[in-house]
Amino acid sequence: MPERTPYIAANWKMNKTVAEAAEFVDALLPRIAATQADVVICPSFLALHEVVERRRGTAVRVAAQNMHEDGTGAFTGEVSAPMLVELDVEAVVLGHSERRQLFGESDEALARKVPAALAADLEPILCVGESEAARDGGETEEVLERQLQADLATVESGDLARVVIAYEPIWAIGTGRTATPEQAQEACAFIRDVVRMRGAAADQMRILYGGSMKPANAAELLALPDVDGGLVGGASLDPEDFAAIVEAAG
Ligand code: PEP
Repeated sequence: MPERTPYIAANWKMNKTVAEAAEFVDALLPRIAATQADVVICPSFLALHEVVERRRGTAVRVAAQNMHEDGTGAFTGEVSAPMLVELDVEAVVLGHSERRQLFGESDEALARKVPAALAADLEPILCVGESEAARDGGETEEVLERQLQADLATVESGDLARVVIAYEPIWAIGTGRTATPEQAQEACAFIRDVVRMRGAAADQMRILYGGSMKPANAAELLALPDVDGGLVGGASLDPEDFAAIVEAAG
């Protein structure tokens, strides 16, 4: 089985001004200098440029938290892939549950966003995950499969392994509740099986866990065979906590 490089991403959501972002990067870089993991910071659009410039010369990569599927057009308030690429942004979070729930991001839009990101050479970090009601109703796999099939519908099988998938059970995001290692492993293995069935080089694909990952639980989650990294919200706002999670990844 191919070695998958661990992947740890900091999703800052609507936190940190440009000045705060700069301060964070300066505090983080010396703390993670020895890591072998892929480290990705996802600031607000406004702080992207600052973070890109501050991390120059390091292996840290930068991702946007959203992107429109079209390259240009009358879409007030939106940002396109070419705009991100011009800033040297390398990746983009797509389909985060907050965007799905609060801003109406649909599977139809995601089916266009994922290939648009790939075509622009932006690495998509596609988030999928079930609600608490779906988990309680035994529908976790059904929800994950539906989201994956819809959101990746038009991605060529040869390109699927270029997508990073984040398994983020909605009930664990920002709640302090973490999926048990069994739940995280089971869901991430299921996701790998679904993409394998689409003809992907699924053993090469990075699948992350997200949902209240913190220094105290990161090592256990990151040791799971199908969990290749983490998408970290709350604990990514503090450079020491985030560096501890990166360290747990190796
Ligand atoms: C997230 O928003 O992607 C996330 C995982 O948040 P938290 O770590 O705060 O649960």
